[in-house]
Amino acid sequence: MEDTIYRIIKLYGEEYKWKCAIFWSYITGEEKSIFSYVTSWYDKGLKGSKFIRLSKQASFGIGEGLIGDVIKSRKYRWIQNISKAEKYRRKDVAMRTGINSIYVAPIVSGKEVLGAIEFLGNKKHFPVDFASTLQTGINQIYLYLKRKESEIQLAKSEEKSQTISELAPAIIYTANEKGLITSLNPAVESITGLKSNDLIGKPVLELFCPDNRDEVATAYKTQRDNNNLVSFEASIVTNKNEDLIAEVKEKTRYLSTGEIERIGIIRDVTERYFLEKQKDLWMGIATHELKTPLSSIKAFSQILTKKGKNIKPKERQNYLLRINKLADEMTGLIQDLLDITKIRTGSLEISSEKCNINELINEVVEEMLPVTNHKVIFKKDEKVYINCDRRRIEQVIINLLSNAIKYSPAGSKIIIKTENKKDTVALSVQDFGKGIEDKNKKHVFELFYRGESKNNSSFGLGLGLYISRAIVNAHNGNIWVESKVDEGSTFFVELPKK
Ligand code: ADP
Repeated sequence: MEDTIYRIIKLYGEEYKWKCAIFWSYITGEEKSIFSYVTSWYDKGLKGSKFIRLSKQASFGIGEGLIGDVIKSRKYRWIQNISKAEKYRRKDVAMRTGINSIYVAPIVSGKEVLGAIEFLGNKKHFPVDFASTLQTGINQIYLYLKRKESEIQLAKSEEKSQTISELAPAIIYTANEKGLITSLNPAVESITGLKSNDLIGKPVLELFCPDNRDEVATAYKTQRDNNNLVSFEASIVTNKNEDLIAEVKEKTRYLSTGEIERIGIIRDVTERYFLEKQKDLWMGIATHELKTPLSSIKAFSQILTKKGKNIKPKERQNYLLRINKLADEMTGLIQDLLDITKIRTGSLEISSEKCNINELINEVVEEMLPVTNHKVIFKKDEKVYINCDRRRIEQVIINLLSNAIKYSPAGSKIIIKTENKKDTVALSVQDFGKGIEDKNKKHVFELFYRGESKNNSSFGLGLGLYISRAIVNAHNGNIWVESKVDEGSTFFVELPKK
């Protein structure tokens, strides 16, 4: 930058026999309100002078000193006799150097001031056509500075895009008109495990799984909307043994060279995709699960209505009991659904009262024993008191016990234990059933997760353990499972006493 401006100020300095010309601007600094020395031209007499040294260190805020005044007012100043200049800070040094007249012109367009040029000399009169001739130089400097400013801004915004691209949790690629990859951000390696260097120069299509490349190629060709945006979902290749489902968005843009560049973002949406699929599947099951008891209730009540007084009291009692049981099942399911809404909206409220965990377990076991032929063994520890939400912890115990019953053979043992620890009370429910595969252990507490059942019978909806974990977490406790396939599972819960 200094070179171009130096040439211009030198031209005017020499031509009009000034001793020195200094260019001031904010353009080299960070702040737009501080103007400082950028470059200067001076004749031999001033070489190494204190005046030049002082000028190199000087800077002005808008309105400060003579230069600051010119910048603020956007008007030139001509001072023939420097000794009378009130605001000229370098006055003494200038005079000692043999300078006594100054002309300062702003580099200005409209309201915008980019800098100022100061011409210093020893003139009795202002050079006649200097101001008008200088205008050409000022215009040149102005254009030059504007270009420089936009180059700096461009560099800054490129630096910003570069940072965004490095931090983005999605693959960002650019490709040329032929569809060959020209750049990739580091996310490609963390998401797919593939090396970006191996992909540069390859077709964009190679990012996608071979069996959906035709569809992807068609999508890229046909799906551009009015904003030139392509958007679709497809599976992408990885070096792991599972493919990922990705959401792809791409736009094209024209470069200043006239070439076309494609910029795309590929986001891993595998989890969302499967969750949605699971949710759809689950909605079907949940509706079925609500509809079946409802149809039976309807059928039983129709029988009762039709038979009227002609029904035997025992038969009537039987139908009423079954209706009651079915209504309880439905209420339980609806209650679970309401709990899930509470958990997801963060409004699961936990009360606190002193509870004896042994007592709570006894109550649950007594309630459930009549409906199962499992052998339930309860190994109690002493003094297992905690402060907790009695109803909610009971819900957890019911869930663990009914899972143990559901997922182990009829007649097998179920061992419940309590343990009084220093600051916590632990309880466990052990069954000798089908167990849980290692890879599924981390999923059992997830919402909607239901293990596959061999005989395809649907035991549950995958809500119980999710709700149980939320309840235990709300008590600042822990819940986990230890299990071996075909040997059985033990679910542990540990709750703080206070
Ligand atoms: P549900 O039992 O209604 O499906 P849960 O959230 O209670 O829902 O359990 C989620 C899944 O965890 C079950 O579908 C089952 O595959 C597995 N699971 C839970 N408890 C046991 C257990 N005691 N033994 C084996 N698998 C279990």
